[in-house]
Amino acid sequence: MAKVVHLKKDCISCGACAAIAPQYWELDAEGLAQLKESLPVENHWEKEIPEQEIPVQEEAANVCPVQIIHVKKK
Ligand code: SF4
Repeated sequence: MAKVVHLKKDCISCGACAAIAPQYWELDAEGLAQLKESLPVENHWEKEIPEQEIPVQEEAANVCPVQIIHVKKK
C-alpha cells in the first residue's frame, strides 16, 4: 500500500496531472486538481492506493510543476 498526498490549496490549475492520469485526477469546478476518491485531511487531501497504482501516481507527481503531489510508500 501507499498513500498519495495532494496539497490542493497550492494547485496552479495547469492540468498536467489530469492529462497524464485522467483515471485518477480531474479538475474541479474551480479549476483545481482533485484526486478522485481522496479525502480532506488537515491542510491537504489524501488517498490510500494499491501497489499497482504507484507508478502512474509517481508520474503525476513528477509532472506537477509546483511539486504538490507526493507518493508516500509504506
Ligand atoms: S499538476 Fe500540480 S499544479 Fe498542475 S493541476 Fe495537477 S496538482 Fe495542480
